[in-house]
Amino acid sequence: MILTDIMKYVESEYNVINNTPCEICGGSYEAEELEIVIVDGEPFDVCLCFCSKCGHEKVFEFPAPFVLNDNSNYTSNLN
Ligand SMILES: [Zn+2]
Repeated sequence: MILTDIMKYVESEYNVINNTPCEICGGSYEAEELEIVIVDGEPFDVCLCFCSKCGHEKVFEFPAPFVLNDNSNYTSNLN
């Protein structure tokens, strides 16, 4: 998978975050930290966000299939 595809993923993730109102005050979330985690062999993009108004914390999770591609490339490089 090429870089522009990854950018599309990340971009759509930020779109979801930006379009999700804070469940406390209705404000907008801002992404603070982006982390890749592997759950049962499935990669997930975990994004820690805070409401820009009230500071409410929310964690967004997105499937991140592009990470597996990166890993397989990495492994084949090692071999
Ligand atoms: Zn809020």
